[in-house]
Amino acid sequence: MSSGRTVDAMVMIMRTNGCAWAKKGGCTMCGYASASLSGVTSEDLMWQLEQASKKYAGEPFVKIYTSGSFLDGNEIPKDVRDAIFERFGSAERILFESRPEFITKEVLGTLPKNVTIALGLESSDPEILKVSIKKGFTPEESKKAGMMIKKAGLTVRTYLLLKPLYLNERDAIEDAVSSVRFASEFSDEISINPVNVQKFTLIERIWKKGDYRPPWLWSLIEVLSRCAGKVNARLMSSPSGGGTQRGAHNCGECDSGVLKAIERFSFSQNIKDLNADTCRCRGTWSLLMETETMLGTASDVMRSVDNELAIGK
Ligand code: SF4
Ligand SMILES: [Zn+2]
Repeated sequence: MSSGRTVDAMVMIMRTNGCAWAKKGGCTMCGYASASLSGVTSEDLMWQLEQASKKYAGEPFVKIYTSGSFLDGNEIPKDVRDAIFERFGSAERILFESRPEFITKEVLGTLPKNVTIALGLESSDPEILKVSIKKGFTPEESKKAGMMIKKAGLTVRTYLLLKPLYLNERDAIEDAVSSVRFASEFSDEISINPVNVQKFTLIERIWKKGDYRPPWLWSLIEVLSRCAGKVNARLMSSPSGGGTQRGAHNCGECDSGVLKAIERFSFSQNIKDLNADTCRCRGTWSLLMETETMLGTASDVMRSVDNELAIGK
């Protein structure tokens, strides 16, 4: 999707040396920490580019994923970066991700104007970013990078994480709503990513013990509804693992309908599209939020209750 139009996109996934932060332990929800490589050379990367070029059919939107930061010279050296821009120079838009520490005025000056940089801000709360996510930078650093990108005439997409570790459902909603407000000051697009529990992560260990539940899709609907029309940035969400136990989910019966409503809204930006058919689990979700707040817990209350019942049988 680009400027509110549906356009074809090409996705190029590059195997690079991986995220520098992941090598130091990484973020609590990120599976890349266990999958980092080393010794990937410029020649390897050029070969990957060549393979992707053969498949490129002139799609207007090119997304490049590197499992880290495209602007980190250790992942994508400058000569490879330039070759990529030359190859996809005719695209309307090239999207890639970068941590803020690699975004400098000098680097921005070398990028073509059809670039969108995705920033993984995750949360605007410094404590949540530090303790729950272990992001390794502050919200202010992300904001500064966003402002610089805008000043350089490029576009910003910001990713926010819905329901980081240790937050209960209600707090997660409030965190995401405040983060949208914060990010809208420097973002053209804001994508809300509900946690998808990835293998070999801290969040997976805690989830397996029953002390974490990925967010309800109702929570995502609430965040989008509360922010729709109130910020200039386009709001979107495409929950990976949506409707599964590891991803954002409801009761199982209404999940696909709710996911479709989120998809429709992400395209139209029309709040009416968020009106998914309601389901009886909406009441459970509301009650659960009250219970969690009353008990002061962020663990998976429903699973604990189910376990207790099973033991009592
Ligand atoms: S979430 Fe991004 S910054 Fe964090 S470890 Fe993974 S790739 Fe690196
Ligand atoms: Zn339901």
